[in-house]
Amino acid sequence: MYSDKVLDHFSNPRNVGEIADADGVGEVGSPACGDIMKMFIKVDGDVISDVRFKTFGCGAAIATSSMATELIKGKRIPDALKLTNRAVVEALEGLPPVKIHCSVLAEQAIKAAISDYYTRLGVDPVSIVGELKADLH
Ligand SMILES: [Zn+2]
Repeated sequence: MYSDKVLDHFSNPRNVGEIADADGVGEVGSPACGDIMKMFIKVDGDVISDVRFKTFGCGAAIATSSMATELIKGKRIPDALKLTNRAVVEALEGLPPVKIHCSVLAEQAIKAAISDYYTRLGVDPVSIVGELKADLH
């Protein structure tokens, strides 16, 4: 049912934890699995120098959070914003169809953290990040 990559990221999630002095924090939830994902980013110039996550949820939610953090760490914000849930699923070598929404959650958590970063700077994030999906279904 799950690829080796998914099992690896579920068993050994990367970048777990919090960043106490984060520059942006995003939290999103999915009613379908009861997943809650919290993403912390540290920004240096326009580069995401560090990223951590805390996820309470199903195995796929943990694996997608882990992979998403790996994919945006060290990237410039404009590149991190281009990360789609599809790219996360591909990097994990696939997810069962019923778990695709978990990857959407990871994409939205990153966008929420970057939105928070811009809000703290006094910049309206909507023109940069776009509208966040309030309903993930
Ligand atoms: Zn889930």
